[in-house]
Amino acid sequence: MAEVRLERVEKSFGSVNVIPKLELTIADGSFTVLVGPSGCGKSTLLRLIAGLEDVSAGQVLIDGVDVTEREPSDRSIAMVFQSYALYPHMTVAQNIGFGLRLARKPKKEIRARVEEAAEILQLEALLDRKPRQLSGGQRQRVAIGRAIVRKPKVFLFDEPLSNLDAALRTQMRVELAELHAKLDATMIYVTHDQVEAMTMADQIVIMNGGVIQQSGSPMTLYDRPANPFVAGFIGSPR
Ligand code: ADP
Ligand code: MG
Repeated sequence: MAEVRLERVEKSFGSVNVIPKLELTIADGSFTVLVGPSGCGKSTLLRLIAGLEDVSAGQVLIDGVDVTEREPSDRSIAMVFQSYALYPHMTVAQNIGFGLRLARKPKKEIRARVEEAAEILQLEALLDRKPRQLSGGQRQRVAIGRAIVRKPKVFLFDEPLSNLDAALRTQMRVELAELHAKLDATMIYVTHDQVEAMTMADQIVIMNGGVIQQSGSPMTLYDRPANPFVAGFIGSPR
């Protein structure tokens, strides 16, 4: 587990400032949902934490360590992409183990860690299949497996369920909650779906226009929204 802290983080693309100075602490071991309308900067914020984008100013700290200058692979973070990011020509086992192969881990260790991840995700029987032979939910689990296998302290999910149908989305929400309970990890989950945020989060961070409007537990935001945007966005009675 690890705390994630952003200190005075800013991000501009060219002359466009999409995230003005921002402070955020994400609690160790929390399931934090980052929610806000499309284009408000959620993905950018996640990519800054992951190191897939460089900050324009400020620091990213993980577990109290400044990782601002570190490569994504050196931040103990794994990002879960949507299921279509699987390699179609590789088996499930090869897809899950790919990151470890890139890191030149020994074959035996890769096999053991892939099997461990597959067990957590109930994919043991599917390790030799290709992605096209899987259902949507199974593909999504393989995508999560690629993250688990690296044993990160922090998982980042960027709208991972948006391609799935409603029934599967509900099932995957439950599975993600179980996964969070099983793994000792901090999870940051991005969505634009208020219902998803309110039901999945133990902490919610609400963004609009690159600015954090409020953060806290779903109950706190519902009972005591900081401003009309928060109230309107999460549908609290005020
Ligand atoms: P969200 O994930 O909340 O929908 P994004 O983080 O993707 O929002 O985008 C926030 C803003 O930053 C948008 O206005 C978007 O157009 C802009 N943006 C994101 N990435 C880039 C980029 N690589 N270059 C220029 N503008 C970008
Ligand atoms: Mg996005």
